[in-house]
Amino acid sequence: MDSLKTVWQNVLDEISKQISTTAYNTWFADCEPYRLEEDKITLLTTSELKQKVLNEKFSDVIHRALIEVFSSDLNLVIMTVDDARMEESRHFAADTPPEMDAYTFDNFIVGTSNEFAHAASIAVANNPGKVYNPLFIYGNSGLGKTHLLMAICNVIHCNDPELRVAYVCGDEFTNRVISAIRNGTMDEVRDEYKNVGLFLMDDVQYIAGKRSTQEEFFSIFNAIYRTGGQIVITADRPPIDMSILDDRLRTRLEGGLMADVQPPDIETRSAIIRSKAAQLGMQLSPEVESYIAENITSNVRQLEGVVKRLTAYREILNDNISIASVKRAIKDVIRVGAYIPTPDVIIEETARYFSITAADIRGQRRSKNVAKARQVSMYLIRSLTNLSLVDIGSQYEGRNHSTVLNSIRKIEELLKTDQETADSVRDISSNINSRS
Ligand code: ADP
Ligand code: MG
Repeated sequence: MDSLKTVWQNVLDEISKQISTTAYNTWFADCEPYRLEEDKITLLTTSELKQKVLNEKFSDVIHRALIEVFSSDLNLVIMTVDDARMEESRHFAADTPPEMDAYTFDNFIVGTSNEFAHAASIAVANNPGKVYNPLFIYGNSGLGKTHLLMAICNVIHCNDPELRVAYVCGDEFTNRVISAIRNGTMDEVRDEYKNVGLFLMDDVQYIAGKRSTQEEFFSIFNAIYRTGGQIVITADRPPIDMSILDDRLRTRLEGGLMADVQPPDIETRSAIIRSKAAQLGMQLSPEVESYIAENITSNVRQLEGVVKRLTAYREILNDNISIASVKRAIKDVIRVGAYIPTPDVIIEETARYFSITAADIRGQRRSKNVAKARQVSMYLIRSLTNLSLVDIGSQYEGRNHSTVLNSIRKIEELLKTDQETADSVRDISSNINSRS
């Protein structure tokens, strides 16, 4: 594949056809590509003035050139070199956690089901490395563990932007360790985690059973612990129930504070529904709110899913949210709960709908139809399965969790405004469900 620089040169060539040489030299001579993701390109320039002018005066020109070169439009972000430096100085050893900004203590609803985990998280966020170390948060899927982890990370990062932070999912960590061992680059991985002030390991259950991964984790854990770094870990169950966990590691994990999250009670569910609806700019009637709270009982992600579907109905169908539409939304969410299709099935069905092959979707082609199908399939995998963004990314060639997240967001946006997208998502979902 062409390197980003080569591709960018083609874009510059297009731009130079559209504007005067003086303008080109003034505004584009030191504009460089920084990152290319599935549907977004990030450019760097040297000053805020240039950033402003490029955004305000030249974004059409840049978009036209991007369409020429990529045959589809990309979202455009222009950063200054200083912005980029700042971003990098956040020192994330692993990739930046994807949804970090969305998960704060402010938008976490506290009830008896999670107040202990919430209080422990606040204590740790305010006194990292001092009070409870490690903090181990466990509970079933969809009950706010990742949310609390990110909220802790946000507070600590805000109080001390220079502190080195490492966020990693158990499955991602396992993959990294396995490939580092294969490539003889384990020292590099260890170095990355050295001197980390905050270590966040999400879904640690994925490392259980893998001996080499556990050993590396154990030694990284000890190194960070010894230097006073704060460690926060989440899992779907307590260490004692992870039968394949190494005993030394289990003792370590149990040595700090353990806090569980339980399914929320009805008042908390209502409060969550209200808050999620408000975030999406919606106010639900009390009947609708209590209907949802009474029918979705064990998973906050599902509560959120219902509210999101209602927003989509409202946008697409101009629906003023009756109990009938709520029933439909709940049926969708519950049915998904009953039958969880595999990513293979979802990709196959999406490919069939777009008249392409599953290999096209998994591959690198960027033509408009394929790119759209790929985004829709990522959106569907996210909404129909419990796979993490990282897992979803691994279904595709060369896609990481942040490209997956961008694709999903894009489809979520389109669902609000574009009937064609809404129809295709609905039809493919129903094809998938009929295979259950
Ligand atoms: P887990 O990591 O336990 O599987 P998440 O933290 O990903 O769950 O939570 C799933 C979704 O539900 C997220 O969008 C999260 O913001 C939301 N959520 C969970 N608990 C709460 C809560 N108490 N208040 C607000 N939102 C919540
Ligand atoms: Mg999680």
